[in-house]
Amino acid sequence: MNRREFFKISAGWSALALFQSVGIGCSSKKEPSAASLESLPYPANALEPHISAKTVEIHYGKHHRGYVDKTAKLIADTPYADLSLTEIIRRSAKDPEATDLFNNASQVFNHDFYWRSMTAGGGGEPQGKIGEAIRKDFGSWGDFAEKFVYAATSQFGSGWAWLVQDGDTLRVIKTANADNPIAQGLKPILTIDVWEHAYYLDYQNRRGLYVRAFVENLIDWKSAERNLRTRF
Ligand code: MN
Repeated sequence: MNRREFFKISAGWSALALFQSVGIGCSSKKEPSAASLESLPYPANALEPHISAKTVEIHYGKHHRGYVDKTAKLIADTPYADLSLTEIIRRSAKDPEATDLFNNASQVFNHDFYWRSMTAGGGGEPQGKIGEAIRKDFGSWGDFAEKFVYAATSQFGSGWAWLVQDGDTLRVIKTANADNPIAQGLKPILTIDVWEHAYYLDYQNRRGLYVRAFVENLIDWKSAERNLRTRF
């Protein structure tokens, strides 16, 4: 933020914005900018045959990019412009006049998180710390998989299913439309997008096949394990 941009911010937010920018400047933590399209962590065809390159190209290049562009427009010249994406989500969730911003910013976060929840050759039973945590809180990987598949297939209409950390405990939840765990004070560990645009080209109305392919072949457990240690 340069001097001119700083003085454009309304007086009520100035001190807070300065504090935020200093805080971010001193931190080694990399926060994605709210208005930037993070690159995909793999080529568009990497998830085939479970998710086609065509689906990834349209989902990432049109839907995800659309949420980024809309967020950029909505925060331009507002006090939100200098906040991190997660701060925008937390604040807009409580602001009845910022519903449109909440929906778009949240979808930016959700999509970036979704791409990073998957990897080629992923899925199946996790090892290591995340495997231990799954067994501790669900009994077995099979019990977790059953809960996750049920949440993802039973979400009525558009939304997301998540593995989250609630305090010290892992739980499966589902959220409608753009909503996400950060707005509810929960830590996201992994997610699946169950909006129709995520699977319709490949699976048409058979959401269950898409969800099972995700659980059995795509989950990036290394990323999930890293998220256990991440502050959002
Ligand atoms: Mn989507």
